[in-house]
Amino acid sequence: MTGLPFPAVRATSGAPEGLPGLPDQFGRVAQDLRVSVTDRCNLRCRYCMPAEGLPWLAKPEMLTDDELVRIVAVFVGLGVRQVRLTGGEPLLRRSLVEVVRRIAALEPRPRIAMTTNGVGLDRLAQPLADAGLDRVNVSLDTVDPREFADLTRRDRLADVEAGLAAAAAAGLTPVKVNAVAMRGINDHSVADLLRWCLDRGFELRFIEQMPLDAQHGWDASTMIAAHEVRTLLAERFTLTPLPEADRGSAPAERFLVDGGPHTVGIIASVSAPFCAACDRTRLTADGQVRNCLFSRAETDLRGPLRAGASDAELADVIRGEMWRKARGHGIGTADFVQPDRPMSAIGG
Ligand code: SAM
Ligand code: SF4
Repeated sequence: MTGLPFPAVRATSGAPEGLPGLPDQFGRVAQDLRVSVTDRCNLRCRYCMPAEGLPWLAKPEMLTDDELVRIVAVFVGLGVRQVRLTGGEPLLRRSLVEVVRRIAALEPRPRIAMTTNGVGLDRLAQPLADAGLDRVNVSLDTVDPREFADLTRRDRLADVEAGLAAAAAAGLTPVKVNAVAMRGINDHSVADLLRWCLDRGFELRFIEQMPLDAQHGWDASTMIAAHEVRTLLAERFTLTPLPEADRGSAPAERFLVDGGPHTVGIIASVSAPFCAACDRTRLTADGQVRNCLFSRAETDLRGPLRAGASDAELADVIRGEMWRKARGHGIGTADFVQPDRPMSAIGG
């Protein structure tokens, strides 16, 4: 302890001393840290941000590499076993390879994954793998160039395809592909996307569109629900559900495709939430710890850190934030209010 006054630290702690790690009041324990390394992006996916982009964080607001790695180390000391780098577009952080190398040097070494749109991954996959990145999820909603340009508002499909190939060549396997189906844009090509992924050995997972877009344009009535994706895929493939027991805290319901061995996942994040098994915690690029994507509050770590807080004091702030995690996201209930921060600024 430094003995300095840190009112924010005292006000936010609250997890019982006897429970180690990152427990909450509903018996869950966070072990999976999502780190947003930048809020910037080079695509403009319709379900995520407006065509003109967003007011990005100024450099002094963002955690430096030293600050980011120090906070991740505190999380690892609190039992985090997997660190997922995300954003915004994580590949836009110039120091990303160095950040991965430093996280991989932590003890115990966490598994390191990344969620990326894949633009630029063709050059970075091997250096990232060499630095210690274990796995990658590439977001790709369609392999139809016109649909891709419509949905992302950028003509970069070829770059994403090259990035995926480079990820596989660099051994960042299993390479996973994340897709969101949007009505009237790519809903009728979901089976083509699955065929394309199966042919290349990529594991495809669909996720329901969530109310986390900066424009607040999400509408339950137009969302393509998980059961609809399943019906659309079943027009072309035989899907056999894998036993629920194989799922653990993983949110995707998985299906064997045409008898296997390949699978497809469908994540019903809105229509059948997996909150009860959630083991995630989040750090934003400007140093806020969040206990949930949908949380309307977050706790500042950057302020105490820059004021000289010790690791133990930072750990106390983090434990307090996680202890307050709500039971569920509550989408569809009368009380639900979309968080002010969009997905791209929280870290998806
Ligand atoms: N830019 C990177 C990417 O696209 O993979 C990482 C950040 S992005 C916010 C992380 C994931 O969130 C992507 O797979 C993206 O498709 C997904 N996503 C963004 N907005 C979403 C929304 N409103 N509903 C569901 N998924 C969303
Ligand atoms: Fe960028 Fe990812 Fe959001 Fe698309 S989903 S705009 S790639 S942050």
